[in-house]
Amino acid sequence: MNIDLHNKVALVTGGSRGIGKAIGTRLAGAGAKVALADVVDIAQIQATADEIGGGAIAVSANVTSPEDCGTAVSQVEETLGPIDVLVNNAGITRDGLLIRMDEADWSAVLDVNLKGVFNMTKAVVRGMMKRRSGRVVNIASVVGITGNAGQANYSASKAGVIGFTKTMAKELASRGVLVNAVAPGFIDTDMTKALPESAREALLKLIPLSRLGNPDDVARAVLFLSSDLASYITGQVVVVDGGMVM
Ligand code: NAP
Repeated sequence: MNIDLHNKVALVTGGSRGIGKAIGTRLAGAGAKVALADVVDIAQIQATADEIGGGAIAVSANVTSPEDCGTAVSQVEETLGPIDVLVNNAGITRDGLLIRMDEADWSAVLDVNLKGVFNMTKAVVRGMMKRRSGRVVNIASVVGITGNAGQANYSASKAGVIGFTKTMAKELASRGVLVNAVAPGFIDTDMTKALPESAREALLKLIPLSRLGNPDDVARAVLFLSSDLASYITGQVVVVDGGMVM
């Protein structure tokens, strides 16, 4: 069975660059009509949408705002049709040891990474429930499973995303909506470029496949979970990390 998402509409948050852009590219490549929602300047999101092709559109939305999420969903559904696939990808880091982490850094990360997932999921799933069909894929992280020194806020937010994913899977299964998470390991994007070379080398030693992941490694797992190939999978966390966590 090939993956065919023609006649499907997919919304990807944080889609203007990095992993979100790769996910948008893969979904569009399988025939889906893709909408990228991001907080950045609309021209920048549109440039990525144009690059992705297949009629992809850009919408402006800060996932921390329930109003923005509601408006973005209406915009996408008016332009492309009902949303079949939601990928909650938007995320940020504000790293630091707990002792030096201020409340603003804690709240900013929890707001985008966890409340953002709640906001956008709530805005999208009502329609999916009525149609008795839909897929939600949440981008978590391996540190939501293992924890990571210096990332109390980020790892708590991603552990929260995993708990939210399992709960949504249980709440929505009877309505035909499947909810899963993908937990990437160390992926080469702007988010991880800030790491010093010594930290990168130390991390590489922990990865059995001996390389950093690339955004498309994550995107292919999302594509699978969005497709008919994954029609008996819900509430799962698919780890994409070159074997780092097992
Ligand atoms: P990235 O390159 O920093 O891209 C994140 C995207 O999310 C950016 O386009 C960003 O917009 C957008 N965004 C940030 N805050 C937002 C908000 N409030 N509303 C809407 N969009 C917002 O990060 P990435 O590496 O691709 O990460 C994507 C996802 O994968 C995140 O959830 C991240 O936690 C997760 N992840 C990444 C790694 C990794 O190694 N890279 C590992 C595990 C998990 P701006 O351009 O304005 O910032």
